[in-house]
Order: sequence, then structure tokens, then C-alpha cells
Amino acid sequence: MTVLNPAGWRPEMGERISAALEAPETVTGNRALHLEEPLLFEVGRMDHCGVDFDDVPGSPLAGLALRSAPVDLPGLSEPEAVRHYTRLSRQNYAIDLGLFPLGSCTMKHNPRLDEKVARMPGFADVHPLQPTATVQGALKVIDQLADWLVKLTGMAAVAMTPKAGAHGELCGLLAIRAALDARGDTRDVILVPESAHGTNPATAAFAGFKVEAIPATDDGRVDTAALIGKLGPHVAGVMITNPNTCGLFERDLKTIADAVHAAGGYVYCDGANFNAIVGRVRPGDLGVDAMHINLHKTFSTPHGGGGPGAGPVVLSEALAPFAPLPFVKPGADGALRLVEEADGDTDAPQAFGRMCAFHGQMGMFSRALAYILSHGADGLAQASGDAVLNANYVLRRLEHVLHAPFGAAGPCMHEALFSDDGFAEGFATLDLAKGLIDEGYHPMTVYFPLVVHGAMLVEPTETESKADLDQFITAMESLGERARAGDPALKSAPHFAPRRRVDETRAARKPRLVWTEQGA
Ligand SMILES: *Cc1c(COP(=O)(O)O)cnc(C)c1O
Repeated sequence: MTVLNPAGWRPEMGERISAALEAPETVTGNRALHLEEPLLFEVGRMDHCGVDFDDVPGSPLAGLALRSAPVDLPGLSEPEAVRHYTRLSRQNYAIDLGLFPLGSCTMKHNPRLDEKVARMPGFADVHPLQPTATVQGALKVIDQLADWLVKLTGMAAVAMTPKAGAHGELCGLLAIRAALDARGDTRDVILVPESAHGTNPATAAFAGFKVEAIPATDDGRVDTAALIGKLGPHVAGVMITNPNTCGLFERDLKTIADAVHAAGGYVYCDGANFNAIVGRVRPGDLGVDAMHINLHKTFSTPHGGGGPGAGPVVLSEALAPFAPLPFVKPGADGALRLVEEADGDTDAPQAFGRMCAFHGQMGMFSRALAYILSHGADGLAQASGDAVLNANYVLRRLEHVLHAPFGAAGPCMHEALFSDDGFAEGFATLDLAKGLIDEGYHPMTVYFPLVVHGAMLVEPTETESKADLDQFITAMESLGERARAGDPALKSAPHFAPRRRVDETRAARKPRLVWTEQGA
């Protein structure tokens, strides 16, 4: 194995840490900055209170509002509570700590400039119920961002309110449903390729459609002939991801879109991976009718643990009249207003309804617009080019040790896909992923897409420098070699994480959400 020496990192650093971890146990269980942390319920005591309240025997409240039973919450001092959460946060991996190679999730650096802009009081402190005359600047941000999204995608309109990619999918399919209803058409099947993100079939089912799967070809793309063969008067539309979740561009999208339109259906494109093509391809030119854009992927806003997110949906001429409320529109006096109601024949008479109570996530809009304006159109094209270059660098540097199922088909887009083919008997993708934790990385996306056995999907994004990529590649090369050789130490990785292997299936299926006292 070639040992690289990227800037700032030397192999002996790893040896130093390993030597330290082989040191004897400590009485606290801590190892310098690696702090062991019990549960709050184990730190605090139920019969304790973090604050001393005066006894007020003669209080008029006595006997009225006084609690008769203990609250059963641990009593903690302020520093105890603060330290607990700070320690836990330090056991977490974060994009500000290191490369986060999760394929499809597009984990990239969130520029501090965008954070600064989002914290400006005029954006951060506005209230959704404020009179629009007092929030013209904020409305202008929504309007300008909408304009960029429409132009970058070559579409007719955009619904800004959906709060995530999956919510955007629902918005797009509801617009398709509304367009079909408007022409009295009851077709109810959505075609979804096998390689699609799980949210696609889930959304179609949730929106009341029946889902039919489209197989993939051996080169990792949608089987165009099979898809066209399924078209007919019952097909409401297709949901296609482009670039797809194998990290490949769907070259036949225009042909597919033309066939779907000729058969009376609509084309939904899962645009979560727009970061690979922004500034280079306009989905509108490929015949797309609706596409969500994950601002937290392409436009670098933070991925919050389930929110607050934003997944605006761009719409074609055909679907634009059905866009949900509310939206920003200039009034006769030039001032911007929020169209909140379908208003006779002037405003949005065919809007299908609302996706959320207010107008969407202001904090994400201000960050995304700051990102776009700081890059400009040429900078966005360079970001997608660099993302694709980085992914291809990872693909080509690793394919000698990790099997790349579509490596021979040519360059990839924004993510590199590997399989567990060639691992020693009994060794799987999970072992390599656990080994990556010991090497100081969050594991890549594993076992997705389902069309590849033991899939490992790596998306470095444009954020990473060559030195950072080289260090990651060195770790992956070493782990790939250990998985091929059947190194038993890899089977029991991670060795250095606060917890070793946990039963992830049981944790997901049967979570224990209520703390019970040991022995109780
Ligand atoms: C991330 C992603 C989604 C879902 O987006 P969320 O914002 O997480 O709801 C859908 N499809 C693809 C291909 C994705 O990568």
C-alpha cells in the first residue's frame, strides 16, 4: 500500500493515538479528552433539585398549585446539565470535524458567511404573522431565490414552501394529481425505478398512487425500454432521479420524458442530486414537469436533525397553475405581497392547497441565497464540476482495492459506488464501515442503492481538498485490504469509539425510550 503524506497528517500520528489507547484503564473511565458520559438520570438524583426554592408556608398558592407527587426528573446543577450535553455533543461526528462521505446525503461545509447573513436581525427575527409592509426585505429574499431556482432549472415556477426533499416530492405529486383532476383524468399509477431513494415510492403511495417498479440495466441506469413498455392510460407519471443513486447521469431522460408526455403522463424528477449538474444542465430542457431541490444539499444549508429544512419544487408550464399557496408576488404598487388565498380568477384559482402553515423556512432561504450570490452562476458551475471531479478521483484511486460495479461504464457523477465483491468469506460492507469509525470518519452510505450487493456510496462533495481526500483514500485502501485479507480485528471494529457494535436493527425497531432505574 502506498503511504501518502498529505499536508498536516503523518502516519505516526495514528501510532501515537493507538499507543495511548493501549495504556492502562483509568479510574474514571475517561481517557483524557475522551470522556465517558452516563445518562442524566444516572448523574442527577430524583430527590434533588438544581435550584434552592424558599419555603413559603403562608403562600396563597399553598395547597392549590403545589405538586402532590414528585416529578421524577433528576435534579442537576446548571454546570452538570450543560456539561452533560456538551460532552455528548463531543461524541458526535460533524461536518465541521471532518469529511462526511455519506453518498446521496451531500454533506458539505456550510459557509460561515451564509450563517452570518441568516443571523441578521432583519431575517432572523421576523415573524410569519408580521404585516408584509414590514418584511419587504425578507420577501425579496424569497422572491430572488425563487428567481434563481427557476432560471437554474429552466422551469416555469417554483413552490418555495415544502420543508424537505420528501415533502417536495409530495408537493410535486399533489400538483400532478391536481392537473389530472382538472382534466377529469383518474389515472393512478406512478412508475419508480428500483434504484430510487426510498422516499420516492413512499411519497407516491402516500399521495394515493399505486407504485410500479422499473428495473435497472446492467450499467446502473433506468431500463428505458421497460419503462416505455409500461406506459399507458393508467400511468399518471414517473419519478426519476437524475443523476441517479448509482451516481450516474440518466442519459435517456429526454427520450423518457417525451414518451411519458405522449402517453399523457407527467415527469417527476428527484433533484436531490442537483449539486452534480447545477450550472450545466437545466432539467426543464430535459422535459421535467416537477423537481424538488434540497437546499441542504445543493445550496449548502445545514442538515438539521429532521428540520428545519427547505425543499422547493420547480414546476413546468403544465403544472405551474396548480402550485400551492402561499407565494410571493409583486402587487400593483410594486411592493411584494404573499398570496395567501386562491382568489377568484386573478390569483392562483387552481392552487391545490398548502404544504405548510406559513411560507417556508426563512433561515434556509437566506442561507441559500447568500450561497448562490457568493458563488454566482460561474461559481455554481465550478462547484458542481469540482464535486464530480472529487468523486471521480475517489473512484479511480480506490477501484484497485474496492470493486466498482459501474466503474468500467465511464466516469461517475457526484458519488462513487463500490460493492463488497472480493471481501474475504464472512466479511461485509458493515465491517469496513465500522473500521472507518476507528479511522476517524463517519461511515459512507451503506447497503444503498439496493441494486448493488453490499453497496458503499461515497460522496466527497466539492468541499474537500486533495490532501483531505488523500487521507480518506488511504484509510479506505487500508480497510479494503483488511476486508479482502479477512483481518479478524476488523470484524470487531470499532475499537476506539465510545460504544462498540450495537444491535442497530433492534435499536431502530424496538427503541427503549423510557428510562427505568437499574434493578427497579
Ligand atoms: C436526500 C434525498 C431525498 C430526500 O430528501 P430529504 O430532504 O432528506 O427529505 C430524496 N431523494 C434523494 C435521491 C436524496 O438524496
